[in-house]
Parts: sequence; C-alpha cells; structure tokens
Amino acid sequence: MESSTPTLNVVIVGGGIAGLTLAHCLLKNGINFVVLESRGEVHAQDGAALGMLPNGARILDQLGIFDDLIEGVQPLRKCYFWSEDGELIAEDDSPVEFEKRHGYCSAFMDRQRVLEKLYSKLGDHRDRVLVNKKTINVENLPDGIRIHCADGSVYEGDLVVGADGVRSIVRQSMWKSMDEHGLQAEVEKEKTTMISEYNCIFGIAPATPGLNPGEIHRTYGQGYSFLAVIGKEGRVWWFLFTKMSRKYNGSEIPRFKQSDMDEHVLPYLSTPVTRSVRFSEIYERAFFRNMLALEESLYKHWFYGRMVCIGDSVHKMTPNMGQGANSAIENCAMLANYLAKLTKSPACKPEDIRRCLQGWQTTVQPRISGIWYSACDLTRLETKATLKHKVLIYLLPYLLGIFINKSSALMIGAAKLDCSPPPARSQQGTVPFKDLTPSEEKRDSGSRGIVLGALLVGFVAVGWNWRRLLV
Ligand SMILES: Cc1cc2nc3c(=O)[nH]c(=O)nc-3n(C[C@H](O)[C@H](O)[C@H](O)COP(=O)(O)OP(=O)(O)OC[C@H]3O[C@@H](n4cnc5c(N)ncnc54)[C@H](O)[C@@H]3O)c2cc1C
Repeated sequence: MESSTPTLNVVIVGGGIAGLTLAHCLLKNGINFVVLESRGEVHAQDGAALGMLPNGARILDQLGIFDDLIEGVQPLRKCYFWSEDGELIAEDDSPVEFEKRHGYCSAFMDRQRVLEKLYSKLGDHRDRVLVNKKTINVENLPDGIRIHCADGSVYEGDLVVGADGVRSIVRQSMWKSMDEHGLQAEVEKEKTTMISEYNCIFGIAPATPGLNPGEIHRTYGQGYSFLAVIGKEGRVWWFLFTKMSRKYNGSEIPRFKQSDMDEHVLPYLSTPVTRSVRFSEIYERAFFRNMLALEESLYKHWFYGRMVCIGDSVHKMTPNMGQGANSAIENCAMLANYLAKLTKSPACKPEDIRRCLQGWQTTVQPRISGIWYSACDLTRLETKATLKHKVLIYLLPYLLGIFINKSSALMIGAAKLDCSPPPARSQQGTVPFKDLTPSEEKRDSGSRGIVLGALLVGFVAVGWNWRRLLV
C-alpha cells in the first residue's frame, strides 16, 4: 500500500529488470525513488530472452504484473534432454510439475516484453524513470549521496541502488569509497572476483520444423551445450554455450564481433540439437544473433555507506538455470522489505542505514549465493566439464526426480514482499513456498534450542556431503 509520507529518497541507477522491479517494490512501500537509465529507451529489443520461474513470478504477482506478463505467452510443457549424437537421453514434464507444485507456470519471453510490462505498469509514476541519464560518478557523503550523470545533471538522495548490471559504476564508486576508508585489501579481493570461462551465442528464430510450442530442448556435448525453448507460433529462443580455451579474469574478458561469431559457429552447424533438427536449421533462420562471454561474479560486499548494489552488479551468474533475473527480483523484494523498516526509524542516521543494509545482506546473500553456485554448476554439467558431470549426464534418466525436487526446493525458499499478502495462486500448489525470513528472526528462533541446532548441523553436514556427490 502506498503511504502518503515518504521518508526515504532512493536513487536507482539502471532501468533493467532489477531497477524497474525495485521501483515497483519501493512504490508499494511508499518509498520515494527516481530511476536513472543510460539508454535512450527502457525497453529496446536486444534479442535477449527471459524465463519466468515461480520464485520471481510470485513477486511479480504481488506487484500486479504477472497476469499481464504471461497473457498470450505459450506456457512451457515438456523438457527433452539430448546427447551430442541426437539420441534422446530423457524427457520430463517438469514445467507442468512446477506449476502443480508452486502455482505458477514457467514461461519464456523476449526480455523486451518483461521490461515493457514493468515500465508500463508504473502508470503515472513512469515519469520517475529518466532515460539518457548515464551515471558517471557517485559520491558517498555522510548525510546523503550525490550522483553525477554524463549530461552534467546531478541527483541527490538518502541512498543509491546500483542496478546497473555487470559493469556497474555504482559498484566501482562503492569500491572507491571503501578504498578511501582503509579497506584496500577487501577491494583488491573484490576486483579479482569476476571470471569468464564460457561464451554464449544466442538468438531468436521463427518456427523451425521439428520444434513445437511449449517444448524445451537441452543438448549435452563435450565442451558445449544447446538450449532451445519454443514459444507461441514456434518462435525459437536458442542458445549455444561453449567452454572457452581458457578462463579470463575481469578486464581481460573478451568482447566478440560478428566475424568471431561466424567463425565460432562453423563446427557446430551440422551438430544435432534434437534427433531431427541440426543447429544450422535454427541458426540460418535466426533474425537475431549475438555472442557474449558469460561473466561469473559473486561479490562479498553488496553495500557500503549509502551505496547498495543488486542484480547482475553483484551476483552475475551463467544463464542455463534461468535464475539471473528471477533472483534479482527476489533481491529487490527483500531490499524493499528492509528499507520499509528503515523508514520507520525517525532520524534515518548512518548507523540505522548500516544496520538495515547489513540485515538485508545477511538475509539474502546466502540464498542468492546458493542459486549462483547451482547456476554455474549447471553450465558445467551441461557441457560435461568433469568426470562427475559426465557420470551425472549418463545417470540422468534415473536422477531426473532428484533434480526436479532440488529445483523445487530452491524455488520455494524465495523472498517475497512483506507489505502485500501472498497471492492466492501461490498458496494453491501442492508444495507451498517457505518464505525467506529475515536473518534476525532466524536468530531469535535459533536461541530457543542451541542443542537442537548443534544436532541439526551434524545432520546437515552429513547430508551436504551426499549432496556434493549428487551435484
Ligand atoms: C543469454 C542470456 C539469457 C538469460 N536468460 C535468463 C532467463 O531465462 N531467466 C533469468 O532469470 N535470467 C536470465 N538471464 C540473466 C538476466 O538477463 C540478468 O540476470 C538480468 O537481466 C539482470 O538484470 P539487471 O537489471 O541486474 O542488469 P541489466 O539487465 O544488465 O540492466 C542494467 C541496466 O542498467 C543500465 N546501466 C548500465 N550502466 C549504467 C549507468 N552508468 N548509468 C545508468 N544506467 C546504466 C543498462 O542500460 C541496463 O538497462 C540471461 C542472461 C543472458 C546473457
């Protein structure tokens, strides 16, 4: 519910999925915001696609966006797993199963559609999203923040949230401020965090014979994998993931040209995606293609002073699991929950802000880190990176049930908005959500049984070892 007396002014840098979702979450909590987006248009077509999964879908449902988002979108129904020879390894109806369990269908769509819905659903508040506002510097002042844009404009607020993606300027400004306050060693560690070991050629193609609406095809080769997701009227969102010849660190991560892509796909063109479809049949039809190095970075510091970072700016994961945006949406909801508590503190002093942001980070970081590790491991599983992964692919027909349960467990532990009741749909599934609770609540209930806790740690440690064998 919107309150009439906003007590906090938040400047959001970046109008992508994270920035626009946070705008909605703040609006719902009556917190003032402005979004500064560097591009000239919020929802330009960039050829990227997004899979909406139950953990992100529930929050968009709380925000009143989910129904519009999936209207007319083909729900996913079947998942097929193929070997590099085009032999069927296994098939399942996991998307249908997830809907039965958690109440939300899994749906794939152009990222442009998600951005367009997030933007249009801001209604009269759309004028708080300012385009052509490239942030070039952020000052962390004792009593506020000051943001400088390339066009010379300056914005001030109580907090800045960097939702500005993998090359985040807010994260860099945060590091600068940490550096000035004697945290050089921490900053040096953070700067070595980002790596890239895989690249991805992805795109969109029109209907291709042999690929039917509602299907997902995952193809596992040595050092590469394909993913093809088929939407309404046969639209194909396709991905070719490849292990690069070496691991790149931070600034040396390559950027690719059209000629790199043309050369890179050559050995894969005749490779089967399914029994009846070769990659060339999709690639040659495609009306959009792009090639990226897939960065992987999970930073330790998600805030400093009055600067906060969310989404790809602090937890950039590989896309095979479709959780990058979904986990960013969760992070936005949890940050808004904490900022809503902050607005209740009358003075909003630096120590109140620090306590609030520390609570948010302690609550959400372990969850998103778990998702991050699973996502990065899935990329390696699908390209058979190690003997363990090869064995798992071999055993896939027998392990599908375990993988589905693991995915379910990961989705139900999700954050949600506290200011709005859980949507009816989220309570109708056979496996209800177990909401992510604030860390201080966990501590309170923990104090009830230290002995029980110690016993549980023992069981979890044993279970973890088994889990490591399976993952
Ligand atoms: C090929 C591929 C497929 C994917 N598929 C999925 C999927 O199926 N499901 C899923 O959940 N995730 C998926 N992801 C991941 C997902 O796209 C990202 O995790 C998500 O978009 C992150 O959102 P973000 O808002 O944090 O960052 P971004 O999307 O990078 O948005 C950052 C925004 O900030 C703006 N910006 C940058 N710098 C500045 C500046 N200095 N000043 C002002 N504005 C600035 C940018 O223009 C942009 O609008 C996929 C990713 C890739 C690469």
